[in-house]
Amino acid sequence: MSVEYVSTRNKNDRVTASQAVLQGLAPDGGLYVPTEIPKLDVSLEDLSKMSYQQVAYEVMKLLLVDYTEEELKNCINNAYDSKFDTEEIAPLTYADGAYYLELFHGRTIAFKDMALSILPHLMITAARKNDLKNDIVILTATSGDTGKAALEGFADVPGTKIVVFYPKNGVSEIQEKQMVTQKGDNTFVVGIHGNFDQAQTGVKKMFGDDELAAALDAKGYQFSSANSINIGRLVPQVVYYVYAYTRLLASDKIALGDEINVTVPTGNFGNILAAFYAKNMGLPIHKLICASNENKVLYDFFSTGTYDKNRDFHLTSSPSMDILISSNLERLIYKIAGESDAKDRDLMSDLNTKGVYEITDEMKKGLADFYGNYATEQETSDEIKRVYEDTGYVLDTHTAVASCVYQKYLKESGDDKPVVIASTASPFKFTRSVMQAIGADDASVSDIDLTDKLSEVANVAIPDAIKEIKTAPVRHDTVCEVDEMPQVVKKFLGI
Ligand SMILES: *Cc1c(COP(=O)(O)O)cnc(C)c1O
Repeated sequence: MSVEYVSTRNKNDRVTASQAVLQGLAPDGGLYVPTEIPKLDVSLEDLSKMSYQQVAYEVMKLLLVDYTEEELKNCINNAYDSKFDTEEIAPLTYADGAYYLELFHGRTIAFKDMALSILPHLMITAARKNDLKNDIVILTATSGDTGKAALEGFADVPGTKIVVFYPKNGVSEIQEKQMVTQKGDNTFVVGIHGNFDQAQTGVKKMFGDDELAAALDAKGYQFSSANSINIGRLVPQVVYYVYAYTRLLASDKIALGDEINVTVPTGNFGNILAAFYAKNMGLPIHKLICASNENKVLYDFFSTGTYDKNRDFHLTSSPSMDILISSNLERLIYKIAGESDAKDRDLMSDLNTKGVYEITDEMKKGLADFYGNYATEQETSDEIKRVYEDTGYVLDTHTAVASCVYQKYLKESGDDKPVVIASTASPFKFTRSVMQAIGADDASVSDIDLTDKLSEVANVAIPDAIKEIKTAPVRHDTVCEVDEMPQVVKKFLGI
């Protein structure tokens, strides 16, 4: 049987993998899920002898079945190349009794690079396969990090353009510098006088604007989005769990068949869902440990079976996890509802209208693979300090949330199987918070200059991504009002 994709809200909406990549979200608002999760068809032993790129092919070919071998290998080789600062792409570092899977060796030193460096290639390949005549214009609103990772992914990819809107006074100094210095003739970065929600609403309006779509079409363009529910972002994330397991195998840290635990700092539930898919493909994972910050909606969900977004929103030191609606959770809901689109529709409609839904006892049984907990701001900061003082290894704030929650799991369960902790950002991305935690902050210097001191205390070279923004020229200085967003896009596209 061949894997296809169906919408979580309508099983009759059935598309190929490449069509799902092009569509992103299903027309009914559902998320595309594979009709089955295939088992790995190469042994873990054989995989342990392969490179990252080879493992990526063996995993992704099973879920993106309508891509040819040549197409998929091209996408992989274009994505996982010298853009990463290590040949291993996603190296494991052992510290404090855990294996930290470093997913931050790409262009923006955070884990979004793992998927966003391949998504553009998956998209243009899909466009070609499906006889799309237009070039793709990616529209994104960003609160800081995803926009930059998308810019880096799409920069200079033929057949694409990318426009990123960010709140002019709503991102950090480092984040703004990273975006406005972006290279690539097909990139366009715009600050708006407004907040992130207004930027996002403006982008959504443009996606729904038929007149604008017609004007684009006449010029040979069409909009698409690169957001985290795209199956083309999820599938590449399965790869590094398989890679991590097989590296432990290759270095005799585990024996064939040994189970490991996996801990993931979670926001939108994409990264941990990829680990769940890896487990379902046959990777020997025991528990999936879901770590939240003070926005602990997922912890409450795993403990009670009720998902309730009606609560105060906390701004934390791990901003990429400050989320009250974890979009990708819908894919798990669909699965534990016995792949019932009707049930999924009901629950998502409750979420939409009341902000809350409750799953049945039967569905709760489907959550047995997961353990959820959370870390407060103080606990997160203490964890960075503890791990640094014990081992010299410096965690970023998101990874520290995961590390802290893993310690809670260990204490509660006594389950000390080898653990892989997804390390989702370089500490250099959150220098101020990290330096405050280890007691080495210097309030008199800027965030960018503080990286010199972090480099000293962590004994790690400053990543190129940071070095470059110190000297890179500003290439984007457009600023507009919220209601001018469509005109700005038109002007960039010459319409
Ligand atoms: C996006 C992000 C997360 C959360 O990942 P999800 O897939 O949204 O759960 C965690 N840490 C960092 C640094 C991120 O950028």
